[in-house]
Amino acid sequence: MKAIDAPPLLEDGELLNTTIMPIISENDILKFFNLEKDDIQEFRITHQSDGIYICIRLNVKYHQCPVCGQMTDKIKDYSQKKIIHSVLNYSQCFIIYEARRYRCPHCHKTFFEHNPFVFGSSRISVATVSNILRDLKLPNETFTSVARRYHVSVTSVINIFDDHVRISRRPLPACLGIDEVYAFKTYKSKFVCVLVDCTDQKIVDVLPTRKKDDLISYFMLIPREEREKVLYCSFDMWETYRIVARHVFPNASCCIDKFHVVQELGRRMDKVRISAQKKYMTQIRELQQKKKNIGLTKEEEYIYEEASRHYYVLKKFNWMFISTDNRIFDPNEEKRYNRRLEGYYNYYDLFDYMVKYDRELDIAYDLKDSVTRFYRQCHYEDAKKKLEEIIIDFRCCPIEEMSQFANTLTRWKQEIINSFMIVDREKNRKMNTAIVENRNKSIKLIKHASNGYLNWERFRNKILFSLNSDTTYYLNIIKKEDK
Ligand SMILES: [Zn+2]
Repeated sequence: MKAIDAPPLLEDGELLNTTIMPIISENDILKFFNLEKDDIQEFRITHQSDGIYICIRLNVKYHQCPVCGQMTDKIKDYSQKKIIHSVLNYSQCFIIYEARRYRCPHCHKTFFEHNPFVFGSSRISVATVSNILRDLKLPNETFTSVARRYHVSVTSVINIFDDHVRISRRPLPACLGIDEVYAFKTYKSKFVCVLVDCTDQKIVDVLPTRKKDDLISYFMLIPREEREKVLYCSFDMWETYRIVARHVFPNASCCIDKFHVVQELGRRMDKVRISAQKKYMTQIRELQQKKKNIGLTKEEEYIYEEASRHYYVLKKFNWMFISTDNRIFDPNEEKRYNRRLEGYYNYYDLFDYMVKYDRELDIAYDLKDSVTRFYRQCHYEDAKKKLEEIIIDFRCCPIEEMSQFANTLTRWKQEIINSFMIVDREKNRKMNTAIVENRNKSIKLIKHASNGYLNWERFRNKILFSLNSDTTYYLNIIKKEDK
């Protein structure tokens, strides 16, 4: 069967009446707005060049005076409202609503009748508003994209969002993750601090700062009873978070997620690799200079070639030092021809080639690997003993970049050990803040998709509205004083 196409357009952009008529009828409109035939005094559909016009006047009904409560059907006057009703996606649609005003015979107050089309003095229909809000829930939808879809201005979409969306903070969870994302520049800070419930993966709240005093003030406004419920608090190696967590969560064990430790160690590993690369580069440059001036001996020629190869491998396969790809450790992996090295190599050979001729790289990698094994093999019970051994190994290392890491491990020792705690006995699960990192990506997406937010409350509401699946909007407009 052929799909039903949108009605064809005439050359001047006018829609064909005959095609439209069966698509939108009085009955549809009544059903749409939950009206009965008796509710309607006048009803007309016309097609004009800029869209479909539905003209409606409701029947006279007794209304209660909003001031004194008297019932009345005394008409004062009418005013015509043109309402944008973007529910048909092939055409702009307007409701021309003859809004009736009543006058109270008792207190003389005048007021508009109840109607199902718009909220208050808005010019956008209730249905359009709910479509707009539904679309705004998607993280990648922007105020601009939604405005375009529903034939309304960006300002209108923003106003609708501000009028209907206000998400409250969620209660503090047992497993709280604190992380930051570089996303919103306020007068206070360029970081957004994200509080996540690590169990149900919902965002508890987002704050416009990660400064100590601001965080303490924020948490201290939460009743102690609620703060006491936080049993585990996980964050990155930012001293402020530890100070704040100890101050505001009396029952919490603080943890540093594996991710942050491994990331920091990876940065150090990379510095060792770069310095090895530099050594080869210096050698290459010196020999190039000599070659130009007096030429190279056979032996120098060989050293030059070797240094170039080492430099090439270190630069091209640098990712191996921070990777957990198993192929690096498998000597039996298929070998492929490498043109630069003029031979057959697999990842195992290439890695071996890198560390075999550079003692510092070899030592540094062994240390890094001991941390990887520590996370893979240890349990809470033996984590302390093993970590202390690792700290000694790092401290004894002659490479400064690595020996300094002993200080990092010492400074965060208890938090690292705590990250082995089982927070969910049933599922035998440790605290996991990987989801926080995931959320951060989405927050950045919201930020990028919106050409930067200038209003913090709006940005915060959009994050919570779009990223927590269970959040919803208010059906009625939130009063300004409640905001
Ligand atoms: Zn009255």
